[in-house]
Amino acid sequence: MKKKKNIAIVAHDNRKKDIIEWVNYNWKELILHNLICTGTTGKLVEEALIEKCRENDAVPPTVTRLKSGPLGGDQQLGSLIVEGLVDILIFFWDPMQPQPHDVDVKALLRITVLYNIPTASNRSTADFIVSSSLFHEKYDPILKDYTSYMKRDVDMN
Ligand code: PGA
Repeated sequence: MKKKKNIAIVAHDNRKKDIIEWVNYNWKELILHNLICTGTTGKLVEEALIEKCRENDAVPPTVTRLKSGPLGGDQQLGSLIVEGLVDILIFFWDPMQPQPHDVDVKALLRITVLYNIPTASNRSTADFIVSSSLFHEKYDPILKDYTSYMKRDVDMN
């Protein structure tokens, strides 16, 4: 991943307040990168960053907004990870309430492990990621070689 990273940000409804607090706290770091969000999270993140940039005479970043999570946004993010277009995932998911798209959430989290994507599900992990010296440096995550999974002999009889 390059110095300028593609950072995905997602929050379930009960965690949106938390994610916006985190975005407001880290706005100076975040505006240096490309941001990709699910629909509603993206609207809130964009509004928060526009406001911070307006107050501080800075240029707000473009926030790419995907579909809302329950409408396929998590799956879109998973696909972008597979394509190598997401470097970091900040995903504040709700530990107290089941979601209509829980299967999509599980799939997204599985893909982040498969592709060795730094992933934060809570504020402290997100703070550790943003304050890491690697956050603004080039970094190549090691990818496990799964090619043997594709070469398994399949007995069709
Ligand atoms: P939202 O989707 O940003 O559109 O609310 C997030 C989610 O529920 O996964």
